[in-house]
Amino acid sequence: MKAESAVPTVPIFGIRVSKVDMAATVAYLTEAVHTRIPHQVITANPIMVMAALEDPAYMDIMKSAELVVPDGTGVVWAANYCNEPVSERVAGYDLLHELMRQGERYNWKVYLLGSTPEVIRETAERLQLQYPGVIIAGYHDGYFGPDADEEIIAGIVKANPDLLFVARGADSQEPWIAKYKSKLGVPIMMGVGGSFDVISGKSKRAPLVFQKMRIEWLYRLLKEPTRYKRMLALPKFALKVVREKDKVTKV
Ligand code: UDP
Repeated sequence: MKAESAVPTVPIFGIRVSKVDMAATVAYLTEAVHTRIPHQVITANPIMVMAALEDPAYMDIMKSAELVVPDGTGVVWAANYCNEPVSERVAGYDLLHELMRQGERYNWKVYLLGSTPEVIRETAERLQLQYPGVIIAGYHDGYFGPDADEEIIAGIVKANPDLLFVARGADSQEPWIAKYKSKLGVPIMMGVGGSFDVISGKSKRAPLVFQKMRIEWLYRLLKEPTRYKRMLALPKFALKVVREKDKVTKV
């Protein structure tokens, strides 16, 4: 089923990517919290787009998300290249912090799910210190199997959060949210990948110079060379966009 997004979008190989900037994204999601309408937010990058093109089930998840934001520089570039530019890059890590900032104003409740027990504990403490107006309604590590899903969902539902951030890696967090979003019923449910590792201090975000030059992926590759395999998706994506320029943004 295709979700109609209330923000203007550009379809990238059929995935509707939001064209609005960070401020409008936060405003839109604030409205979602106020109306309590569940939203799965996906922060799209070329690796995820390529995975969706290879796996129909993953494509369905990308298409059924209520909001897909352009997280990867490659996605921003593709929209621009096809003359349907997005306003700006909306990085998942930045969106997490913008939503926490907004949560300060409204005393939102936040549930954190994912990463190791130490990382999640440290993340909860640091976020609470940085955003004292936000209520950390609960947290749980991300190392559990499907047999624990029900118990964990029950814990989240009981905590009744406004925001649910899930950090379990893109190949499992998005399918997990999609599978359970109606049970969870949280207004904003967003996969945040390695964000808790950065917030807790376990790993570092790319230095500003890498961010400014839009090569955060290169920093990650240098830090974790074993990522090279999945990063092959980047040139593959670029090539596909160039070769199929006329088709990329057609639905
Ligand atoms: N993670 C988790 N459960 C798992 C695998 C990973 O909670 O079964 C966490 C991991 O600790 C890290 C986050 O997911 O905090 C993102 O992991 P990674 O950087 O490998 O994911 P990706 O880059 O694929 O999004």
